[in-house]
Amino acid sequence: MGNAATKTNYASNKSISKKVCIVPIGTIDKEILHYTQKELEIRFNVKIDIGRQLEEPAYAYHKQKKQYYSTRILKRIHKLRLTGYDRILGIADVDLYVPERTFVFGEADIKKKVAVISLTRLRQKFYDLPEELTLFRKRIIIEAVHELGHTYGLRHCTNNKCVMFLSNNLSDTDQKGAVLCSNCKAIMKDKKTITN
Ligand SMILES: [Zn+2]
Ligand SMILES: [Zn+2]
Repeated sequence: MGNAATKTNYASNKSISKKVCIVPIGTIDKEILHYTQKELEIRFNVKIDIGRQLEEPAYAYHKQKKQYYSTRILKRIHKLRLTGYDRILGIADVDLYVPERTFVFGEADIKKKVAVISLTRLRQKFYDLPEELTLFRKRIIIEAVHELGHTYGLRHCTNNKCVMFLSNNLSDTDQKGAVLCSNCKAIMKDKKTITN
């Protein structure tokens, strides 16, 4: 399983411009993918494609925890080595963890420029609350901007209104916006000038 997914033509055109590829990890709602793509294109001013769906991440599953080890998923998407893209954002809909923490909303590898977010804990339903689609979408963009921000070299910010502030729980996420503070914006601008 999975081999077929690695040899696909992610890049429909052979453009050499630096781009981001969103990779669905297993089945992800198409509407959510397109919404995230559009929002990130505007916010990062970069071309974003949606790559072919990967297999469900059974390889990352921890039986006792009933969760998925996000670093394994990062490794999986890094191994794709997608031509034409210099950053990859995986979107998963399973509960993620790393050994040091009981769960994570997402994870990024600054050096490899790969990131993953999970939708699971962003839904009100996860907390036995009535679903709120607008809130769910807002949280997705916050987490996506945060993890993609790491791939641009941004680190955690101490400003709790900044998207790069570390969310330990959903209220952290909800009280920050999807926007970089002026410090992070300046760092981002520098990085983009250097890398592009
Ligand atoms: Zn972070
Ligand atoms: Zn900041």
